[in-house]
Amino acid sequence: MNTLYWFTRDLRLHDNAALLAAAKSDLLLCVFVVDPRWFQPGPRQCLTMGDHRWRFLWQSLMSLERSLRPVGQRLHIAFGHPEEVIPELVHRHRLARVVRSRLPGTREAKQWLAIKERLPDTLCQQFETLSLFTQSTLPMPLDDLPDTFSQFRKLVEKTGDRSCERLRIRTHSALPPPPGFPEDNRGDCPPISEPQHPGRFAGGEQAGLAQLERFLFNTHGIASYKETRNELDRWDSSSKFSPWLANGSLSVREVAETIGDYEREQTSNESTYWLWFELLWREYFYWYALKHGAALFRRDGVQRKQRPATFYPQRFKAWCQGNTEYPLVNAAMNQLRETGYMSNRARQLVASSFINELELDWRYGAAWFEQQLIDYDVASNYGNWQYLAGVGADPRGLRQFNLDKQAAQYDPQGTFVDRWGGHAEQPVGLHSVDAADWPIS
Ligand SMILES: Cc1cc2nc3c(=O)[nH]c(=O)nc-3n(C[C@H](O)[C@H](O)[C@H](O)COP(=O)(O)OP(=O)(O)OC[C@H]3O[C@@H](n4cnc5c(N)ncnc54)[C@H](O)[C@@H]3O)c2cc1C
Repeated sequence: MNTLYWFTRDLRLHDNAALLAAAKSDLLLCVFVVDPRWFQPGPRQCLTMGDHRWRFLWQSLMSLERSLRPVGQRLHIAFGHPEEVIPELVHRHRLARVVRSRLPGTREAKQWLAIKERLPDTLCQQFETLSLFTQSTLPMPLDDLPDTFSQFRKLVEKTGDRSCERLRIRTHSALPPPPGFPEDNRGDCPPISEPQHPGRFAGGEQAGLAQLERFLFNTHGIASYKETRNELDRWDSSSKFSPWLANGSLSVREVAETIGDYEREQTSNESTYWLWFELLWREYFYWYALKHGAALFRRDGVQRKQRPATFYPQRFKAWCQGNTEYPLVNAAMNQLRETGYMSNRARQLVASSFINELELDWRYGAAWFEQQLIDYDVASNYGNWQYLAGVGADPRGLRQFNLDKQAAQYDPQGTFVDRWGGHAEQPVGLHSVDAADWPIS
């Protein structure tokens, strides 16, 4: 059988069950599709793919291309709509099968359906490579996924000691050859911009695996993670695995297994457990997105809870540009705009201010994150935003952080605010017009 392997959010050779299945072929065409719609404004005025995300993704693709060559393969990068590109390649190369990883997100599901409809005689298969568990090894049917994370965690932990590790697969070292190699149109892809702040994130499988080794066995950051994970801006305060996990350069099962190795060989404590615990949050949102489908993007969330929120363009712009009345929020938003990354604590604070102080519709904040974050992940992003907006997986409702208290606790010397220019010269207040709609100067 000849197969098209569609790389998506699994840009790796290690622990890739979908690629392994695709490799059971005589000929194999490896494809990644860059969708031009990623670079056009969506319904919430943001792009799907901002400069930082695009740079990181491109680095990851180049790294994948380098890894594929020694195993006898190449990466075909096409610029176009997947629902057209994939069927066209299947016909041109007379392929009998299309394989990809299963993805959360409604757009992704619709594209897969469209491809299947256009290829009625082709076997189309998906494999679960983004998660710790597969649907059949989850400790409950997907429809019964609990409404809260803690119920989910308890069920997972009841089933035994991190049984997902057993699913991890070692990818073999040679792949079938490609069926000739089509000329690709990668030259049509948007150019890569140079970052204002060249950060420490570099896309690709090797860099992701190196960060795993570094955080565990070199710096032993994992051993004190529980105490440091809420810091706002230090590289080793948290794992920084998220960008590599988001586009699959790093397998989450590889991370889980390596945590297990660390616990056996070095130390096992509350911190090592906590890193696993955070991976479970990611896992929960993955299944949550698959269970709830379109409700992930609804303003009233999966809870169908109406919350007053409107759209104030000037407040939205001020928040995106780091120009609000809240220095801590501004600093974090500047960091995001300049680097494509923000710590978990800062994400919680800026989202809380967006929803509570600025009284904006949370979906616009989520859309800005989608454009900016190099670790953007549809399930974790929209799941966390819903959670904080009180319409998602949190029975306690709206989460509001006291920004002054948070600044005193996490940035007592104001170092973070200073480093990222949080003191805006002319911050935009909540109201730009008075009660009679006259502009306030
Ligand atoms: C409003 C909001 C939006 C977010 N959007 C994203 C997103 O688009 N992509 C993304 O990967 N994470 C998202 N997160 C979760 C979290 O902020 C990041 O995963 C984390 O900051 C990444 O840094 P790290 O890898 O050093 O995390 P660590 O603290 O080292 O955690 C280890 C891993 O656990 C997972 N994890 C940790 N916290 C969470 C969480 N709250 N939810 C889901 N997974 C978690 C991540 O995969 C992370 O890499 C969001 C959080 C909030 C509050």
